[in-house]
Parts: sequence; C-alpha cells; structure tokens
Amino acid sequence: MDHYKYIILGAGPSGLSFAHTLKTLGEDSFLLIEKERVAGGLCRSEEVDGAPLDIGGGHFLDVKRKEVLDFLFQFMPKSEWQERKRVSKINIRGQEVDYPLEANLWQLPLADRIDFLESIAQASCLRGLPMPTSFEEWITWKLGERIAAEYMLPYNRKIWSVDLKTLGIYWLYKLPDVSFRETLQSCLEHTPSGTLPAHGTFLYPKKYGYGEVWKRMGEALKDHLLISTPVASIDIEDRIVNGHLKADKIVTSIPWSQWLSMANMPEYVRNNILKLHYASIDVDYHAEILSTNAHWVYDPDERLAHHRILCRTNFCADSKGYWTETNSRRTIKKGGWSYTNEYAYPLNTLEKPFAIEAIFRWAAENNILCIGRWGTWEHMNSDVAVSAGISAARKAERVTVK
Ligand SMILES: Cc1cc2nc3c(=O)[nH]c(=O)nc-3n(C[C@H](O)[C@H](O)[C@H](O)COP(=O)(O)OP(=O)(O)OC[C@H]3O[C@@H](n4cnc5c(N)ncnc54)[C@H](O)[C@@H]3O)c2cc1C
Repeated sequence: MDHYKYIILGAGPSGLSFAHTLKTLGEDSFLLIEKERVAGGLCRSEEVDGAPLDIGGGHFLDVKRKEVLDFLFQFMPKSEWQERKRVSKINIRGQEVDYPLEANLWQLPLADRIDFLESIAQASCLRGLPMPTSFEEWITWKLGERIAAEYMLPYNRKIWSVDLKTLGIYWLYKLPDVSFRETLQSCLEHTPSGTLPAHGTFLYPKKYGYGEVWKRMGEALKDHLLISTPVASIDIEDRIVNGHLKADKIVTSIPWSQWLSMANMPEYVRNNILKLHYASIDVDYHAEILSTNAHWVYDPDERLAHHRILCRTNFCADSKGYWTETNSRRTIKKGGWSYTNEYAYPLNTLEKPFAIEAIFRWAAENNILCIGRWGTWEHMNSDVAVSAGISAARKAERVTVK
C-alpha cells in the first residue's frame, strides 16, 4: 500500500494548481491521478490539420487575476502569449452583431433596432413585476418577448438542451448586465455601454493551443503525476484509491456522477449526486476559412445543430478552418475530426445548490476536499479554477490531518 498525505483526483487546471501549490509549500507527499495520457482536462489541445485545436471548445485566458497570470507564467512565460481584444459576435437576422446584443443594437438596421428596443422597453422588469425564479421566465422578464424569442431562448435551448424551466437564476451574475438606459445610450452614441463580458481582453498562446501551459504543468510534476490511470474505486472509510493508494485526504476534481460507481457512499449522498446534471459538448473541425474578423460567433438559429463557431484563423497562428461547439444531444455526425467532451458544463438546475451543499457536508466529514468545476459543480473558467486550486491547497496545509 502506497501512502500519501494527499491523493488528488483529476489533472485539469484545478488539480494541477492544487498539486503545484503543495510543491511550492514544501509538501512532497502527494499524488495526482489522471485518466488521460496528457494533463489539462477540458483545456487540452491536439494537432488537427496542421495547427492546434482546443478539444474542450474555445478557451481564452482572462487577464484579470494577476496571481493566476504570475502562476501560469512560471510554466509558459508571458512572451509566449498573445494578448488580444475580444471580438465576439451573435448571428441575428442574417447579420453579425457584437456581443452582448443589448449593448450593440445600434449595429442593426434601423427597423430591427426599433423592434428590439421596443421589446426591451416592454419587458416585465421595467414594469416592476417580480423577478421569476426559473431561467426561462427570467429571460423574457429581463429582455422582453422579441429578444427572448429570436435570441436568448433558442440559444439557451441549443447549448443546454434541457427544459429551461428546470434551470435556476442564481448564476446569472456571470452574464453581462446592460440596463435599458444603457441600451438607449448605446443606440444614440453608437458605442457599447453597460458591464462588459468576461474576456474583454484575453491571452492565447502565440505558437501553441490553450493546452500547452497545462501540459507543461503536468510534466513539471514528474513522478507526482500518474497519467493514463482512471480512478476506478474509492474506499471512503480507509481512503484507499484503486485498491492500493492510501491518502490522509482525498482531493476531488472529477465529476461526482462518477463516484456513484466507484465508492461506497450513504444513500442520501447518492441521491444528491443523482440530482447533479451536466451537458456534453462535441467539438467538430471544418477546414473552410470564414470571412469574419470575430474570434467566435454565437448562433441561436435552431435549424443549425451547433451554438458557437470558433474562428481558429483569427486567434491561432498559421492555422486554417474553424471549429464548432454543439451539445451532444443535437449533434448530427457527418464524419471529419470530432471530439466529445462528456463532462463539459455542470447544469445550474433549481435543485443543484441544495444537492451540492449536502455533498459538501458529507465530504468534509470524510476528509474529502472538493475543488474545480466538477468538485463544486460550478461553471468556472480556468483562471478561477487555478485561483481556487491555489487557495484550497494553502488552506489544507494549515489544517491538521488525522
Ligand atoms: C465549451 C467550454 C468553453 C470554455 N471556455 C473557457 C475559456 O474561454 N476560458 C477559460 O478560462 N475557461 C473556459 N472553460 C472552462 C474550463 O474548461 C474549466 O474552467 C477548467 O477546465 C476547469 O478545470 P478543472 O480542473 O476543474 O476540470 P477539468 O478540466 O474538467 O479537469 C478534470 C480532470 O479530471 C480527469 N478525470 C475525470 N474523471 C477521472 C477519473 N475517473 N480518473 C482520473 N481522472 C479523471 C479529467 O480527464 C480531467 O483531466 C470552458 C469550458 C467549456 C466546456
């Protein structure tokens, strides 16, 4: 039996950051276990048609967290990253408009602008009606019938591919917030106003795909990283992983849904795990070159299977073609290069906050730390996953382990 202070499950950004922080703090007794042959999780890249392609979908590094940038620059120096100003568009009424729509209506022909302005002006939120609790009703309440019908409802039906009535609104602080006044102002001044979306400016590697930095982080861990090793069993009482790896603490960044077949957990924990849902995303490569200056384009048209196009030539040097992101429930396989991310988005259902709370309580009682997108079942970008991984490792090192 090999014995470690920490066994970390999953070498995506959060597991890698947790492990490297332990190393920096002088802690040597840890092992990171990863089922794939390369570290990086959803942020991995592969070479496709002569250039890198990010297999987890479009990935761009937000520049806002200095601590995260400094941490990542240790593995891939700043000089290897290209900073770009975000150009993201929405395909609406046959033309591309900058995202977010509410801040860029001025780019539409006058008649369309008036249609959408009228829709927002009649929205229930401006008439003082109470905020609904389901995402579906919130969309119309906030943006009015027309933007809901032509953009937000179809787009969200495509990306999540579940009944939008089952999703909550507690995560909407992550969406750009543009008031009616700001929409009017932008229409009159012909410039966007309101809270700008994440990634206003982003970093992307000059020569590589987004996966390069995480691959290097994995390699730097040497024997502390066990690749091509799926976690298959967890004995909770004795904290034994795969029958021969014993831990004082288990740190999990792998999806809770997988724990159901691996671990002996109480019935109420299993029932709460069954309440956690997720969306799978297929990434498909297309060799044609698109004539847009956008880095990515959102498409709400439900006649098309995909919901987003990543214009690789506009952010990845010496590349051609583009890739699409499609919820796996909508994919129509046509041949060509394709990758399925079974675990892509945790779903923010109405019951999730209660279910995850119960799982956290049980995990804490059993010396299990929950980190990252799947340990906390939160939509988080990689910079947030890194930041949370670093903080969790620092906190854990100050805690006495039995
Ligand atoms: C479509 C899409 C677009 C995104 N765009 C961006 C973006 O532009 N910018 C950004 O910063 N972030 C973006 N993200 C978010 C980013 O991918 C995540 O924040 C990040 O990957 C979370 O890291 P993690 O380590 O928590 O989880 P993951 O990356 O999912 O890592 C989990 C790891 O666990 C491993 N694992 C799972 N099961 C097992 C098992 N049984 N045994 C062993 N190992 C296992 C997996 O192989 C994986 O390596 C995007 C995500 C998606 C889906």
